[in-house]
Amino acid sequence: MVCRGVCQKFKAKWGAPQFRYANGQKRCNECELFVTWTGIRCPCCSRILRVRPRISRYRQKYITKSEGF
Ligand SMILES: [Zn+2]
Ligand SMILES: [Zn+2]
Repeated sequence: MVCRGVCQKFKAKWGAPQFRYANGQKRCNECELFVTWTGIRCPCCSRILRVRPRISRYRQKYITKSEGF
């Protein structure tokens, strides 16, 4: 689980922080960068990539539902 530098090939080159996840870019905490990768794990260190596809909205909906209940 060590950075081998392979992630540099998949390094995300552009995008505002708030749009990174929406563009299929994922964050690797091991390599400390965003990669454009479709897999779940980092192509470099095999660590599970961090993805946040609209979870905040999901959570908000859940909370509203809970309060109504
Ligand atoms: Zn790496
Ligand atoms: Zn990595």
